[in-house]
Amino acid sequence: MALTGLDIFKLLPKTNCGECGVPTCMAFAMKLAAKNAELAACPYASDEAVDKIGAASKPPIRLVKIGPADHETAVGNETVMFRHEKTFVHPTAIAVAFSDGQSAEELAHQTATVREYCLERVGEQLMIDLVLVENTTGAVEPFVAAVKAVAASSGRGVILKSDNPAALEEALKILEGQRPLIHAATPENADALAALALKYKAPLTARAQTPDALAALTTKLAGLGVQDIVLETPAENPAAAMQYNTILRKAALKTNYEPTGYPVINFVTGQSLPDLVADASTLICKYASILVMDTLACQAILPMMMLRQNIFTDPQKPIQVEPKVYQIGDADENSPVMVTTNFSLTYFIVSGEIENSGVPAHLVIVECEGMSVLTAWAAGKFSGDKIAAFIKASGLESQVKTRKLIIPGYVAQISGELEESLPGWEIAVGPQEASDIASYLKMAVAK
Ligand code: SF4
Repeated sequence: MALTGLDIFKLLPKTNCGECGVPTCMAFAMKLAAKNAELAACPYASDEAVDKIGAASKPPIRLVKIGPADHETAVGNETVMFRHEKTFVHPTAIAVAFSDGQSAEELAHQTATVREYCLERVGEQLMIDLVLVENTTGAVEPFVAAVKAVAASSGRGVILKSDNPAALEEALKILEGQRPLIHAATPENADALAALALKYKAPLTARAQTPDALAALTTKLAGLGVQDIVLETPAENPAAAMQYNTILRKAALKTNYEPTGYPVINFVTGQSLPDLVADASTLICKYASILVMDTLACQAILPMMMLRQNIFTDPQKPIQVEPKVYQIGDADENSPVMVTTNFSLTYFIVSGEIENSGVPAHLVIVECEGMSVLTAWAAGKFSGDKIAAFIKASGLESQVKTRKLIIPGYVAQISGELEESLPGWEIAVGPQEASDIASYLKMAVAK
């Protein structure tokens, strides 16, 4: 049963020491009740409090781990309906589907592509997380051979999809200890698949036609001892899939309804690329924990990875890069000097444009708590005196002969203040848009 803020307060030390990040135990209790804090933030919580509050503040959606220890994918543990309420926790795992009807050469080639698929964006490595092998032949041997090939070559966690319990068991034997996700228990085969999940310590997908039938199925599986469950309600179209996902999450979060408190798997397969991208985008935004696609086309995978990264970054913690002076290209003592904030996206866009220009430059990244240029300026973090102090402390003046500092066009208004705070430097107002940096730099060095 959910504890109220007052119930929780009674279990806290009531010393108001503030070490949990809020000034009083009552304020902390309210945050715990709203699931906006974790009890671990209070170092003085008693064992009784840990027992009682820990259980009550347990994430309403179970954390499920899939795959080998060195390439584990975690899904679930979500606590909010909307990202702006706090943050989404585990990014939608992107899975690519293969079939045991594919030739060995084709599987080898495609799984190698999965392994090598890696995009670096704003300092993060974006990858395909899981592979699904479908037992389209219905036979045991081809399924086992395909699973063996795909698991070894892709290096990713595996989803085993089959209606044949014998094929599933043989595949589970060769993946023992690697926590593959079994797909799928239905009301008809629940006992047999629960036995497999327990025997091989593997997570299990529960699949039923409606949220009510699904809740009945997960209740049965939980009663049999299966804890790590992933939900699937097949839908005829993306609107229905989004509706089911929303119903399941809402029931888990708003009413603490345990039978739907698990991550969700959705399939976007057998479609044209534009339809697949549209449906996958919808489901990444609306609660897919695992999204299975049947393509490796970069027109589908790349936009989904980027969308996922945007949705699953913590809105309370801007992604930051280390504040310092970066040398872009073979910058030397005569190279131009530019300055901007330590918001990760700003850094990667600006440094990318400098690289593209072919003009080596020094890029001064000022500590601005990860804010973008205009936000930092409005908050007083990207002011003339702060930039000047940072440049003086960085030692840049002893490294370069240049005494011209290029500031972002959006903060032209700080140029006078900066010139006063940084004697001997000329302040040049650069372009507003990063896309104009390359032409600006080329013109600057041509003068
Ligand atoms: S750290 Fe614990 S004791 Fe201190 S104010 Fe927070 S809840 Fe109270």
